[in-house]
Amino acid sequence: MTVEYDVVIIGGGPAGGQTARNLSKKGYSVLLVERYASFQDNNFSSAGMTLAPLKEFNLPDNVIGSYWKDLSIQCSEKEYIWKGNETKGAVLDFGRLRQFLADEAQEKGATVLMGHRYVKKEVLSNGVIVELVDSETSKNIQFKSKLVVDATGPLRKVMYDSKNDQPEMVLGSGIEYQIEVNQETYDQYKDRLVFFLGHKWALKGYSWIFPMENKVLKVGSGKIHIASKDQEKTTKTTKKLTEKIIKEYIKTENYKLLDVHGGTLRYSPSIQDTFYKDRVVAVGDAISAVNPLGGEGIRYAMQSAEMACEYIDQFLSNGSADFQKYRKRWRKNNLLKWQISEVSSKRMYSKYTDEQIENRIRFFHQKTTIDDLINTLFNFKFNKIVKRIFQVYWLKIKSLFTGKKF
Ligand SMILES: Cc1cc2nc3c(=O)[nH]c(=O)nc-3n(C[C@H](O)[C@H](O)[C@H](O)COP(=O)(O)OP(=O)(O)OC[C@H]3O[C@@H](n4cnc5c(N)ncnc54)[C@H](O)[C@@H]3O)c2cc1C
Repeated sequence: MTVEYDVVIIGGGPAGGQTARNLSKKGYSVLLVERYASFQDNNFSSAGMTLAPLKEFNLPDNVIGSYWKDLSIQCSEKEYIWKGNETKGAVLDFGRLRQFLADEAQEKGATVLMGHRYVKKEVLSNGVIVELVDSETSKNIQFKSKLVVDATGPLRKVMYDSKNDQPEMVLGSGIEYQIEVNQETYDQYKDRLVFFLGHKWALKGYSWIFPMENKVLKVGSGKIHIASKDQEKTTKTTKKLTEKIIKEYIKTENYKLLDVHGGTLRYSPSIQDTFYKDRVVAVGDAISAVNPLGGEGIRYAMQSAEMACEYIDQFLSNGSADFQKYRKRWRKNNLLKWQISEVSSKRMYSKYTDEQIENRIRFFHQKTTIDDLINTLFNFKFNKIVKRIFQVYWLKIKSLFTGKKF
């Protein structure tokens, strides 16, 4: 006999975990499925964020690896440091975050099935039959549900039966080394996020050093590319850059390599994704919730889950819901900010020379506080930066008429 649930959620990332957490709290019967046997097996995300999402999603201390208060951008020539006089954000342990979300859902009655991969679905008039395969035994099992949630991230496995049905995508691939360094080296990086821009330390993207607890640093590099066939070459490049940062920037030979992980983000320009079709609702990276400027996606994956849950709740309690409203509201809240981020990232990562990057970062550094920078990079509030740029252009234009040098 096929076991039935109100909702089957495929993918145990932040979007799937938050959906399971929310719906099980509401009393629905939920099955959360993750293809990996453990969340430590695909611990791919750097998981840097501001303090806001911790509060927004009531995340406990044990998912936090470390806090940060300063932020710096290292260009090919110079480093620009923004000092914060108090804690500004955190770097999470991505594995522990997802475990926490799954555990909370389970405590509220959800079933969590690890090590099972979604294979296919059959949409019926009164529900969906979902077929999974056990990764260890290769045995297939089926479940029935009223709705299925596609939380498979960049793969969008459930919404689209074939990759050809998906909208056009831009890809960003990142590799990250988790290393243990000595105390002296760790102390140099323990309170800050370091980003690298320019060709010396990054290529068509950016690189980073994020602190974790117990002398552990996350060091990585990410690159934008168009096609999946560029994947191998991209990984080679980002690995080389990461190793260069460890050797020539951190200047440490005596480190312990704890883990190498990485992943690929697939983002649909102008968020052209399908949000709902035939009893399938998509959340998180499956609807391009990740921001294309810096690849920050955890907060937005969880926000999209929260919004989708409102409509899933309506559907399950009334038998219908207008899921087009979910798409409309999400795009209304985010589309413009995401489009500005698309343009900024294209310019910063692919168009500007090292000198142009240096000039822009120097300008931001002179004109902005750490809170302005955080508002731009993490909250996508561009008004302060745009105002500054207009001020400069206005002074330039004025100087043309007055003859006064700007
Ligand atoms: C290298 C890198 C660094 C990043 N750094 C940051 C950062 O510092 N801060 C930040 O906020 N964001 C960061 N991100 C982005 C962030 O991690 C993602 O946006 C976020 O994880 C998206 O959540 P999600 O739940 O939508 O998808 P995912 O986290 O991708 O989760 C999808 C889940 O679905 C599972 N799955 C896939 N297919 C199947 C299947 N067929 N059956 C069952 N399960 C399946 C996968 O195993 C996975 O666990 C980074 C991303 C990368 C790649």
